[in-house]
Amino acid sequence: MPPPAKQAPPTAPAPAAKTQAVAAPKSQPQKALEKMGLRRDIDLALHLPLRYEDETRIVMLKDARDGDMVQIEGQITHSEVTFRPRRQLRVTIDDGSDTCVLRFINFYPSHQKTLSVGARVRVRGEIRGGFVGREMVHPSFKLAGGELPGALTPVYSTVAGLPQAYLRRAVLGGLGRADLSETIPAPFLRKTPSQPLLSLRDALQFLHHPTPDVALSTLEDHSHPAWQRLKAEELLAQQLSQLQARRVRAAMRAPALSGPAMRGPAADGASLQGPQCTLYEQLLERLPFRLTAAQQRVCAEIALDLQKNIPMHRLLQGDVGSGKTVVAALAAVRCMDAGWQCALMAPTEILAEQHFRKLIAWLEPLGIRTVWLTGSQKAKERRESLAMIASGEAALVVGTHAVIQDKVVFKNLALAIIDEQHRFGVAQRLALRSKMSEGGEEPHLLMMTATPIPRTLAMSYYADLDVSTIDELPPGRTPIVTKVVNDARRDEVIERIRGQLAEGRQVYWVCPLIEESESVDLVNATHTHEALSNALPGVLVGLLHSRMSVAEKKAVMGLFTDGLMGVLVSTTVIEVGVDVPNASLMVVEHAERFGLSQLHQLRGRVGRGAAASACVLLYSTGDAPRLGEMARARLKAMVETNDGFEIARRDLEIRGPGEFLGARQSGAPLLRFADLEEDADWLAWARDLAPRMLDRHAELAHRHILRWLGGKAEFLKA
Ligand code: ADP
Ligand code: MG
Repeated sequence: MPPPAKQAPPTAPAPAAKTQAVAAPKSQPQKALEKMGLRRDIDLALHLPLRYEDETRIVMLKDARDGDMVQIEGQITHSEVTFRPRRQLRVTIDDGSDTCVLRFINFYPSHQKTLSVGARVRVRGEIRGGFVGREMVHPSFKLAGGELPGALTPVYSTVAGLPQAYLRRAVLGGLGRADLSETIPAPFLRKTPSQPLLSLRDALQFLHHPTPDVALSTLEDHSHPAWQRLKAEELLAQQLSQLQARRVRAAMRAPALSGPAMRGPAADGASLQGPQCTLYEQLLERLPFRLTAAQQRVCAEIALDLQKNIPMHRLLQGDVGSGKTVVAALAAVRCMDAGWQCALMAPTEILAEQHFRKLIAWLEPLGIRTVWLTGSQKAKERRESLAMIASGEAALVVGTHAVIQDKVVFKNLALAIIDEQHRFGVAQRLALRSKMSEGGEEPHLLMMTATPIPRTLAMSYYADLDVSTIDELPPGRTPIVTKVVNDARRDEVIERIRGQLAEGRQVYWVCPLIEESESVDLVNATHTHEALSNALPGVLVGLLHSRMSVAEKKAVMGLFTDGLMGVLVSTTVIEVGVDVPNASLMVVEHAERFGLSQLHQLRGRVGRGAAASACVLLYSTGDAPRLGEMARARLKAMVETNDGFEIARRDLEIRGPGEFLGARQSGAPLLRFADLEEDADWLAWARDLAPRMLDRHAELAHRHILRWLGGKAEFLKA
């Protein structure tokens, strides 16, 4: 229900100006403002209305049409509380042209008082043709009189505990105080010669309080010149901050890892033959497979970066199963060849441990000490790891978030590798980079992801990132066949599982993860686990869920990895990245509830060996006759393509860039106003302007970034 307009005006003061020294205890709305990120005056000024209400005009009832949102003014001629069909307050208003009934299901004595017979009131609401004539249900109202506003009334997005009226006053205050002086150099104040830009001040004034003659459609579709100014501003801030981050990094120093030539007596390259050959060469030699052409290419790209004394900032993207781990290992040994330490961080313990096992199998034979670091480790083991990292005895550290904790001191870290980078926050990446003990230097950073970024997004959000792409799978893989199957045909699926087990293969069965109700999931998974155990006598069926301890999870995963367990039922999206090549069938229950890239990640758990693999997406429409449109689009995409890049493109299409990026990079400011596709010309304008501004108008550039990104600009460097 819209709050009645006749509330006492909010008495709480507008948010304190920055200069106020002594902080009074914060009121609830103030806290809510902060939670919404509306801290500074400029943040408030940039909090633009969701929509507007027109309180500038009073409409005669005879002119109002059904369904119109109108403001009327008239006299109350009748007021009563009725009890049929339920208790409600019914009031009749007469504006001289017609009458209308106002109905309130929720009301207070104060409402009745204001709306007593004889009173003149101003009422706003949607007019409808009711049972017994026209009516408004729960309109807002106040006593008549007072001037009509000259501008539309803004309606802002808000949260619980932050009344609209309070927020309006806060925004108005912020708008008055914020520094809105021009930051765009005069020659650039236009996109084309015929399209000069409004000033930011005028644009914001207008967007918060547009004059009633504006065509509302131009505000809704953001085509109004005031919106154009905001889009231009925002894109410019984004381009400026990314370019600045790039330049800051270019000015930073990292150890140049020019490989074995740097190593002591071998510097002349004379002893590169025989047993003296580099770790890199030895590892290549020992691998049970040949690198694909794509792997070779990205290894070369990484090697070039590592040779520079500028910190690498590279994203390695490659579809699930494309073989990113070995590329990481080769980068690591390059680092060690030059005599430096390397750290590899993964988002979960299971994944980190899997890397650890694989890496020790590859590296220990070369005499490389690798240590393990996680939160769940025993104190003694952990102390030993820390000591070896500090002394430099350990050349490689593999672990979870534990790797970036304060206590971890490296002797000489030169390369940090982050797997599944989108699962890490920006702050964590910054922390990893601050781990260089050498003053003033930064480690090289290699981030890996199986969720590729479509080009338009890469250009805009990751302008500051170099990207290497593994665009082919290792040879000998048979493509995974994906089938969408109605849940009613579960029995056939179980039959299929039997077939796979009979061939000595293993099977994943994933149950959905609904964040709000872990316990329901658990019940669901437990049922499935029981049902499968019963249906498959003599087969070890395991259960993995998020409530298990790390040790329990490890034990279950161990059985599956070692091939002793035939079927693994899991509630958690099987830890992204697990690698059990013998698994050949992936069943996803309630596949309609999963996101597209999630489904693709899951499917990527099979098809890792030479055996023909399949993915069965079980769906259920519940009570609905058919699946929702988005869910259908996702399942269709899964059947139609196995290509992670195509999947990412479709995902972007289905979800839009906000959500697409939101999930992958918490902390990076997303575009609020501009749209990359729609505003491609403003993006081009901003890309052109940003370097010139940094070169020639550094002060303006700085102010512009600060205005839009505030403290978040630091984050963009991560
Ligand atoms: P992802 O890119 O998803 O992290 P992994 O690094 O886990 O993929 O590799 C998937 C599997 O492919 C692993 O078992 C790995 O040993 C194997 N592999 C990697 N590169 C090659 C290659 N060039 N030829 C054959 N198998 C490879
Ligand atoms: Mg991986």
